[in-house]
Amino acid sequence: CGIVGFVGARPALGIVVDGLRRLEYRGYDSAGVAIVDGGELLVRKRAGKLANLEKALAGSPDGGAAMAVGTSGIGHTRWATHGGPTDRNAHPHRSADGRVAVIHNGIIENFARLRAELEATGVEFASDTDTEVAAHLLAAELAVLRAQESDDQGEVLAEAMRRVCRRLEGAFTLLAIDADAPGVVVGARRNSPLVVGRGQGENYLASDVSAFIEHTREAIELGQDQVVKISADEIVITTFDGQPSQGKDYHVNWDA
Ligand code: GLU
Repeated sequence: CGIVGFVGARPALGIVVDGLRRLEYRGYDSAGVAIVDGGELLVRKRAGKLANLEKALAGSPDGGAAMAVGTSGIGHTRWATHGGPTDRNAHPHRSADGRVAVIHNGIIENFARLRAELEATGVEFASDTDTEVAAHLLAAELAVLRAQESDDQGEVLAEAMRRVCRRLEGAFTLLAIDADAPGVVVGARRNSPLVVGRGQGENYLASDVSAFIEHTREAIELGQDQVVKISADEIVITTFDGQPSQGKDYHVNWDA
């Protein structure tokens, strides 16, 4: 129900959790975050209020310390549509190797077919959500792309996202973060909102500008069927087919 992404030079965790708090008014039943730090992907997620997630973050020494320093992250508040509001169904959802994580608002209408296809290749699912197919599809595309020569891992993640989106039906805002593409968050949207916040040496993604308005008022509203790749100093927008594209730039002038 709420989505936040951040890449910059500051620790991401506090910024992401604050952003989720700003989106609380939308209602939710679970919350979670994923942070990339030093080639590692760390995930914490809990059913219930943000306070439950914050308790989990404070109480886990491994995640706690490492998570506090990573400068790229994503966060989600969930309004369950497929699978009950439990810890395991909370987002982010990870690939089987734990290297990539996704969060999602909306409904992936063709998830059952995609899930059956993935299960037939031996993929084991860890949740009852429609969302989890996106994590496994992304991992499969990343494996194909990484078998080819490429030194721009952020671009590889964006291309994997475009390939996955072309297979999805329904309504989705998706964000992905990848341990092998530190300093990058990739987003995509169809029939569900996604805005970019343009900062100084840092950039944001969110379902709603209120998530980042205390940091920047320079926003870009993404169009239908677009993929965006943000790093600390770059915002690159394409269509699902990889054609260069643009969003709509605007200045947020209302008071938060
Ligand atoms: N359909 C997804 C789920 O049930 C996402 C729900 C949402 O928009 O928060 O997990």
